[in-house]
Amino acid sequence: MAHEVRAVVARAKGAPVSVETIVVPDPGPGEALVKVEACGVCHTDLHYREGAIGDDFPFLLGHEAAGRVEAVPLLDVFGRGGALKSSWYGDCLPSRDFPALIDLYLGGRFDLDAFVSETIDLGDVEKAFEKMHRGEVLRSVVVL
Ligand SMILES: [Zn+2]
Repeated sequence: MAHEVRAVVARAKGAPVSVETIVVPDPGPGEALVKVEACGVCHTDLHYREGAIGDDFPFLLGHEAAGRVEAVPLLDVFGRGGALKSSWYGDCLPSRDFPALIDLYLGGRFDLDAFVSETIDLGDVEKAFEKMHRGEVLRSVVVL
């Protein structure tokens, strides 16, 4: 069964992004259907929007999504309702990495809060790009 979801789409070089409804299929082997709860908006998204990475538009933005697993082949790995985070920055082993990061954060040696400049609504993504372009924010997080 296909799923209708909201997506931030860059349709043309330098043009404002649009929030659109797109259809995604059921997850295949090695994939999961995730209900996104928040998503970072970073310079990678801005570079895609500006055509600096490629010109094969349209681009679906939002590679820093985090949410809850809804449909699986990966049920054995995450469990229903478990958390999942996507990233281009490499793999993470939650049982090993999360406790270490929490210890660093609680010990004042890892400023996790500095990674988020602001939280915004889905409709404010274009404003986030403008602020990022002007150097006013490092990363905005869309909270759904
Ligand atoms: Zn990013």
